[in-house]
Amino acid sequence: MEEEVVTPLRCFGEHHKSELFTDDNVKTVTSVEQKKVECSVQEVLNMFQENHKIPQPTLLREQHYVYLKRGLRYLSDAYECLDASRPWLCYWILHSLELLDKPVPASISSDVCQFLARCQCPTGGFAGGPGQQAHLAPTYAAVNALCIIGTEEAYSVIDRQKLLEFLYSVKQPDGSFVMHVGGEVDVRSAYCAAAVASLTNIITPTLFEGTPGWIVSCQNWEGGLGGVPGLEAHGGYTFCGTAAMVILGKEDMLDLKSLLRWVVSRQMRFEGGFQGRCNKLVDGCYSFWQAGLLPLLHRALYKEGDPMLSQSSWMFEQQALQEYILLCCQNPAGGLVDKPGKSRDFYHTCYCLSGLSIAQHFGGHDFHLELIIGNDDNRLEPTHPVYNICPEKVTQAFEHFRKLPVPAQREGAGNTSNPS
Ligand SMILES: [Zn+2]
Repeated sequence: MEEEVVTPLRCFGEHHKSELFTDDNVKTVTSVEQKKVECSVQEVLNMFQENHKIPQPTLLREQHYVYLKRGLRYLSDAYECLDASRPWLCYWILHSLELLDKPVPASISSDVCQFLARCQCPTGGFAGGPGQQAHLAPTYAAVNALCIIGTEEAYSVIDRQKLLEFLYSVKQPDGSFVMHVGGEVDVRSAYCAAAVASLTNIITPTLFEGTPGWIVSCQNWEGGLGGVPGLEAHGGYTFCGTAAMVILGKEDMLDLKSLLRWVVSRQMRFEGGFQGRCNKLVDGCYSFWQAGLLPLLHRALYKEGDPMLSQSSWMFEQQALQEYILLCCQNPAGGLVDKPGKSRDFYHTCYCLSGLSIAQHFGGHDFHLELIIGNDDNRLEPTHPVYNICPEKVTQAFEHFRKLPVPAQREGAGNTSNPS
C-alpha cells in the first residue's frame, strides 16, 4: 500500500489544548460564551478524529456546488428578509462558484445580467431589488457580480455616466459617503464607491477628494478601524477602510504597524478562525474580513521596503484558519456557517470560502506559493484581496473599461445632497 504523506493537523497536536481560554477565575458573560464555543469546537474535533483513521479534512466541493447552484434559481422563504439584498445573493453565489472553479451556464449568466439591469436605478447605481432606492452596498455587489460574469452583456449593463452621478450624489463635503441619498455615513460606503469606480474606470479628479483623510480618522487607538471616527475597531469596517485606501493609493497614511498588531490578535488561539472585534466569538465570515487584510498589509509594508517581511507566508496562521473552516464551518449538506451549530447561508458560504482561498494562496501574480491543508482537491481558486473576485476577472474588467473614456462630471453634481 502506498504511504500517503499528510501534514499533521495543528488542532490535533499535543499543545493545542494549552491554547484554551483561561478566565483567571473571573467569570463574565463573555468568558462563559467563549468557553461554550471552545467546547463545541472540541466536540467537532473529537468526532472527526473518531471517524477518520488519517485525519485529513475535506472540502465538500460537490455539496457546496449543489447548494449554490440551486440558490441561483430558487430561494427558500428564509431569504424573504433579504429582499433588499438581491444583488448580494447574486454576488455571494457567483463568487463562491468561481472559487470552486464551477462554471455557470451562459443562460443563467444572461438571466442574472437582465435581473441586475432591472435593479439599476434611473438616477444611477443599483438598488437591492427592482423599483427600490439606489444604495452603495447593492451597487458594489451588482458591479462585482457583473465583473465575475465578465461578458460584453454584463459590462454593458452598467450605466457609467449615471453611476458617477450617483456617487457624487452620496459624496459628502468631508470626503465621506452616505450609503444612499439621505442615509447613514460609514466606512463601508467609501470602499463600495472606490471599488466600483476603480473597476469601471469612472474616477474623476474630485470624486475622492478628502476621502483618504476621512478614512484615516476612522482608525482608532486599537489599531483597527471603526465604522465612523470614534467607534470601536471592527473587522468588516477595517477591511473596507484599508481596501479603499489601497485602491486610492494612500494606504501609507494609515498606521500600518498598529493595524497589523490589531488584526493578528483577532485570530483565535484555540479555534483557529477570526473574531470580528476584541472579546467577541470566532465567526467564519471574518476568515475573509480579517485574514483578507493580511495580503493588503503585506503589500503595503513591502512598498515601504520593510526588510522583515516573510517571503513564504502571510502574517497569520494559515493552517489554523484552514482547519477551522474545513472542520468547523461546513454543513454536511453543502454551504458554510459562522461556527458549529449555526445554520448555513450564502453570505457565510461566500466569506468562508474567500478566507479559505486567502489562507491557501500566498503572493500575487508575479510570485505565488500554495499551502493546501488536506487533499489537493481542497484547493480553491485565488481571490483578489481588494475586490474579492478572482484576479483575472479584475484584470479583464480593468482592460475592458480602460478603453472607455472617464465620463465627464455633470455640471453642479456632487455635494448637494446632505441628509438634513
Ligand atoms: Zn458571520
